[in-house]
Amino acid sequence: MGKIAVLRLGHRVKRDQRVSSHVALTARALGADEVVFSGEYDPGLLESVSKVVERWGGNFKVSYTPSWRTFIAERKTRGEYIVHLTMYGIGIQEVEEELRRAHEERGLVLIVGSSKVPIEVYEEADINVAVTHQPHSEIAALAIALDRIHQGKELNINYPDAKITIKPSRLGKLRKKESPREEIN
Ligand code: SAM
Repeated sequence: MGKIAVLRLGHRVKRDQRVSSHVALTARALGADEVVFSGEYDPGLLESVSKVVERWGGNFKVSYTPSWRTFIAERKTRGEYIVHLTMYGIGIQEVEEELRRAHEERGLVLIVGSSKVPIEVYEEADINVAVTHQPHSEIAALAIALDRIHQGKELNINYPDAKITIKPSRLGKLRKKESPREEIN
């Protein structure tokens, strides 16, 4: 089974803190293996995502690349399948089997944008994939793409090394392990 990396393009320190951090948390929670940020370097963002991984468990990797072009070229050399999520692409429902096969055999890079995505990304990707042909959000597109790739299996992921876990309950708000410093947003 190959891995799934999420490449977040065009991060802006002042404007994208929250959305970029939610791209990373969504990637982790829904079964991607790593997130790579490009755009403006933001050590606070890298640190806050790393802290979540440390407390909530798993081996999710967080990093920054100064050049998304180099990153994509390197991953292509490794044989990974480059998937750009965009409303201009082929509907995911038409290519989900192809994505699952590429995940299994090669590993995937899922690219999401922020503001305007350079045309080169559309051309360098192995495939442009749409989650509907309506404009919405990188977080929603990523969540649905991951769910389609994993076919819902990601909903049962557990992290044995987690310092904090939730005790599922119909009512109330319970944790199995408590950390006094932890806050859930
Ligand atoms: N206006 C920007 C442009 O033209 O490149 C896109 C902005 S959108 C808020 C940010 C990102 O969300 C996009 O780059 C894309 O990755 C993702 N996105 C938004 N709608 C999508 C859709 N219908 N299907 C797939 N991805 C989508």
